[in-house]
Amino acid sequence: QYRQGEYSEVAVATPNGVVMVGKHHPITVVAGPCSVENEAMIVETAKRVKAAGAHFLRGGAYKPRTSPYAFQGHGESALELLAAAREASGLGIITEVMDTADLDKIAEVADVIQIGARNMQNFSLLKKVGAQDKPVLLKRGMAATIDDWLMAAEYVLAAGNPNVILCERGIRTFDQKYTRNTLDLSVLPVLRNLTHLPIMIDPSHGTGKSDYVPSMAIASIAAGTDSLMIEVHPNPAKAMSDGPQSLTPERFDRLMQELSVMGKTV
Ligand code: PEP
Ligand code: MN
Repeated sequence: QYRQGEYSEVAVATPNGVVMVGKHHPITVVAGPCSVENEAMIVETAKRVKAAGAHFLRGGAYKPRTSPYAFQGHGESALELLAAAREASGLGIITEVMDTADLDKIAEVADVIQIGARNMQNFSLLKKVGAQDKPVLLKRGMAATIDDWLMAAEYVLAAGNPNVILCERGIRTFDQKYTRNTLDLSVLPVLRNLTHLPIMIDPSHGTGKSDYVPSMAIASIAAGTDSLMIEVHPNPAKAMSDGPQSLTPERFDRLMQELSVMGKTV
């Protein structure tokens, strides 16, 4: 029932050249803050993560917050800041689309379009990103089965876009006291049997605590991930969203060194 075979890698054009995401390529790393807060922080973070070896800069312009009173992202003006960070660092940009109405302007800046966990089954959004040509990063819904997730990916593929990367970011289980979500690393061998789509693991949203991110990143590589998404903020204590799970640039740099010891990174 799933399309097989043709999608084992995704090629992403970035200012620094084409980055390949997939099992026959080195691990690709996406790093950056949860939200784009201002020009200085996003440009600084871009340069720091680039120097540490990241391939993509992430940063939310439109943020899907649980509370309507929480910071919602700077929207369109944050897209301009992402464009500045892209220019300054040469990194490819990954940012989330929440509304079909914003897709065209996001696609002008983003090298990969992110569909967040909360919109994994927003079918009109999936059809729309399937009908444009930027690669799509599809996060697993927090209560989505693997079949739900793969069928959501099919919406994008069926609409004509073969370039989908699947991102595990943790699911809801009974314990939310010590971790924000339960990072389901068993998807790595399971998805390998079901699909050729490249896989990304996000231990930042998966654990919700920066202390737990490095070991889960290492575990993800051991279990065969193709790529990682890591939240990095220049001053996590002051972050406008997801500070507790964000690494400092120094800690991220150390993690990248630890990961490179495992062989396949960069
Ligand atoms: C994010 O990447 O900042 C985000 C909101 O992720 P998720 O959709 O996985 O919660
Ligand atoms: Mn976040």
